Amino acid sequence: MYVAKCKQGESFSEGKIIPYGDISISPCSGILKYGQGLFEGLKAHRTEDGRITLFRPDQNALRMQTGADRLCMIPPSVEQFVEAVKQTVPPPGEGALYIRPLLIGSGAVLGMASAPEYTFLIYVSPVGNYHKASSGLNLKVDHKYRRAHTGGAGGVKSCTNYSPVLKSLLEAKSLGFSDVLFLDAATGRNIEELCTCNIFIVKGNIVSTPPTLGTILPGITRKSISELARDFGYEVQERDVSVEELLEAEEVFCTGTAMVVKAVETVTFHDKKIKYMTGEGAMSTKLHLMLTNIQMGVVEDTKGWIVEMDGLLK
Ligand SMILES: *Cc1c(COP(=O)(O)O)cnc(C)c1O
Repeated sequence: MYVAKCKQGESFSEGKIIPYGDISISPCSGILKYGQGLFEGLKAHRTEDGRITLFRPDQNALRMQTGADRLCMIPPSVEQFVEAVKQTVPPPGEGALYIRPLLIGSGAVLGMASAPEYTFLIYVSPVGNYHKASSGLNLKVDHKYRRAHTGGAGGVKSCTNYSPVLKSLLEAKSLGFSDVLFLDAATGRNIEELCTCNIFIVKGNIVSTPPTLGTILPGITRKSISELARDFGYEVQERDVSVEELLEAEEVFCTGTAMVVKAVETVTFHDKKIKYMTGEGAMSTKLHLMLTNIQMGVVEDTKGWIVEMDGLLK
C-alpha cells in the first residue's frame, strides 16, 4: 500500500510503498472520533494488447478534493493522486485491480475541530468480473430510510456514507433483493440512487438520471455513461425523476466502477413489482460493452479517459 502524511496547514509529503498491513492511529483521531475521512474507488485494466491502463483517475482525485473541502481536510494534488495510484499497480496479471484511495484525519483531536494531521493511503485488491457474476438487479424502493439530505455530505465520498445504509441493504437482501433504491429525503417522491451506485431510466429516446446537487454521489461511471449515451444518439436529461416515471420506464440500469453498467430486472414499490427490459437488445448491454471496450483497449479512446501505466513504472 501507498502512504503519505500531511500536517494541518501543509501539503502532502512524497509517499512511499509499504507492505499491506494494519495501521497505527490515535484513538482520538479525526476519522475515529468524527468520521473525518473520504474514500475513492477505481480500476486498473490489462488491455488486449498487454498495456495497463487506469480509467479517469483525475476524476477520482478531483472528487477527493471536493470532499476534502466539504469535510475540512487537506487533499493531495491531482498529480500526486494519479502518481500514487500508479505506484500501487503491480506487474501485469489477470483481471482488474481495484484501487481504494483513502484520505483520513489521522491526527488526534480533542474538541470539535479538524484533525491536525492527515493520512492519504491507497490499497489495492484484485477483483473478478462483477458483471458476469449475476443477472439483472432486483431493487426494493426504500420507504423507511433516507440516504442523504440537502446540505449534508451525501454528495461526497465520505467514510460515513455506507454505515447508515447497511441496515437497509441487509434488510432488503434478507427479503431476496439485490439492493435498495433511496428516495429524496425532502419529498420522498423522487428517486436518488442505490447504496453504492447511480441510476438511469430509459423511455423511448430519452435517458434520465437524477441531478447531482448534493444528495447524490457524482459517479465517474455515471458521467462517462451519460456521454456515451449521447454519442449513441440518446437525449440524456439530468433532472428530478419521480417514482411514477420509474414505474413507467422501459429500461432501468445502474452505474458504478465495480459493476460498470448493470441492468435492473425488477423494481418493487410497496406491493407493486415492475419488470424491465434486460439482455441483448437493452441499452445497458450496449453501454456496458462500449465502456468496457474502451477500458480494455478494444475500442480506441477518443476522449482521453485512459491513463497508460507503461513507461511510468520505474
Ligand atoms: C462510489 C459511489 C458511486 C459510484 O461512483 P463511481 O465513480 O461511478 O464508481 C455511486 N454512489 C455512491 C453512494 C458511491 O459511493
